[in-house]
Amino acid sequence: MEYEAVIGLEVHAQLLTRSKLFCGCATVFGSPPNTQVCPVCLGMPGVLPVINEKAVEYAIKMALATECRINERSVFARKNYFYPDLPKGYQISQYDEPLAEGGHIDIETADGKTKRIGITRIHIEEDAGKLLHGEGDGEASLVDFNRAGMPLIEIVSEPHISTPEEAVSYLKALRDILLYLEICDGNMQEGSLRCDANVSVRPVGSKEFGTKTEVKNMNSFKFLKDALTYEIGRQISLLESGERVVQETRLFEPSTGKTRSMRSKEEAHDYRYFPEPDLLPLVVEQEEIEAIMVMLPELPAQKKERFMKEYGLPSYDAGILTSSKRLADFYEECVRLFEEPKTISNWIMSELLRLLKEHNISIEETPIGADRFTALLKLVREGKISGKIGKEVLEEMFATGKDAQTIIEEKGLSQISDESELLTIIDKILEENPENVERYRAGKTKLIGFFVGEVMKATRGKANPQLVNKLLKERLDK
Ligand SMILES: [Zn+2]
Repeated sequence: MEYEAVIGLEVHAQLLTRSKLFCGCATVFGSPPNTQVCPVCLGMPGVLPVINEKAVEYAIKMALATECRINERSVFARKNYFYPDLPKGYQISQYDEPLAEGGHIDIETADGKTKRIGITRIHIEEDAGKLLHGEGDGEASLVDFNRAGMPLIEIVSEPHISTPEEAVSYLKALRDILLYLEICDGNMQEGSLRCDANVSVRPVGSKEFGTKTEVKNMNSFKFLKDALTYEIGRQISLLESGERVVQETRLFEPSTGKTRSMRSKEEAHDYRYFPEPDLLPLVVEQEEIEAIMVMLPELPAQKKERFMKEYGLPSYDAGILTSSKRLADFYEECVRLFEEPKTISNWIMSELLRLLKEHNISIEETPIGADRFTALLKLVREGKISGKIGKEVLEEMFATGKDAQTIIEEKGLSQISDESELLTIIDKILEENPENVERYRAGKTKLIGFFVGEVMKATRGKANPQLVNKLLKERLDK
């Protein structure tokens, strides 16, 4: 029997506000433990929460960017449970009346088609603190409340995702949007972006859902893919051997690549939600929504579309170039300076991104600005250096911070375009390879490649390839 997976993701994104969701405490990541706390986020008796307006604005931005319907009235609720990192004994969240519902984003599937993934809801909630295990003498567990009360949005998808790859595409698309909106730093390692998955499998064609498990602790795209691949395989082999899937929460362990049972349905919390009595319902006026709507930047999907239209780029190029806002900006700066959009795209995708990866830095930190980058491309177009040398020069620019012209002069890399100089070299090579010359003249014209190669070797790649080709043909066809 063939099985298919049904996956829904719950994504938590930490909002980049300067203060927490219900108090004025700072939100700087990595501050010394318990230095960003106050009676409100420590859950002291008698304190009252006050909603952070910026957090609401950011949540509305995300809702609009994913085409959700924004509820004019939404309600905060208490989600009650006990855990040492939760000083109040409950988390303020939104439950049956969330901020926004019914959105979607489009992803590209493996076969290049567009697939729409529904977004059930987006709501606002506060984060919990953080437990640090094995501290002190190695025996203690300590708690840091700096994160308690940090603003989060939870974005819940419909179970429209069918493969681990689609899940990764969806999460990447969400992350791109959050970054474009500048409302979350998208850092999965630091936990600013977290993802849980609901996974079930069913026979292909079946309308009913199988029993689902919830998988937690996937803090990278790779772990998300690995965890889902493992969990889907686990469920299918259970069903194939006549067993059944147990509804439970499972933890992904990166060290083994497997998921393991964390708690069963019987142990699941009953959160006893009820409306938060200390906060009024959140009312968002239509005018506020419209004011935020006009502030929305161009989003990844729109930018990609525009890059394809405006610069004549293939979908693949446009997708990569718009994958980060800074990279897209860099590209457009280049196009303003050098009007060969496809050439620029090629050089960014094959060379610049490779160098950034090798040096383990992001486009924000590139030592080469658009002006220097396009200056190099101009030298290649003018024939001052070959494309191959150009790539070496770019590496040198990266390593030394010097500009292309300086490197070319210092290293004597200028292309040899002097006919008589090249002819001397060509004649010598023809003389050294009489058999190949004969074979060429007898009809094996493909040998032209061999001769070009020899000339390039003799000139250490500096000969102008078009000119070498032309001169060789003249000599050989004589
Ligand atoms: Zn506080």
